[in-house]
Amino acid sequence: MKVLFTHPDFTRVGHCQAILEEAGIACFIRNESTQNLLAGLPDTAAQPVLCVTEDADAPRAMELLRDFSAAEKQIEAEENSDEWKCPQCGETVPGNFGSCWKCDALRG
Ligand SMILES: [Zn+2]
Repeated sequence: MKVLFTHPDFTRVGHCQAILEEAGIACFIRNESTQNLLAGLPDTAAQPVLCVTEDADAPRAMELLRDFSAAEKQIEAEENSDEWKCPQCGETVPGNFGSCWKCDALRG
């Protein structure tokens, strides 16, 4: 058993688990909350941990997850690519904003 990574967003960890399982890598999610409670740590520190059953699978698993996060970054970059410049104050506004976050002017 080898820990791959931990992340507070359970959805994300679950998604990574699905990627690994699809690639035939045995893995599971361990929730640290019980251990945190036993250790007297606050429950807010509880977060899911993604582990591979076989240590030998770890390098391949890491590679798959790296591809996944690279693809995710690519999507983020594309979403941010249509930034626009506010006609009123000249501020750069993210593409998903319909009006300027600074002065409220509508997208020109
Ligand atoms: Zn503006």
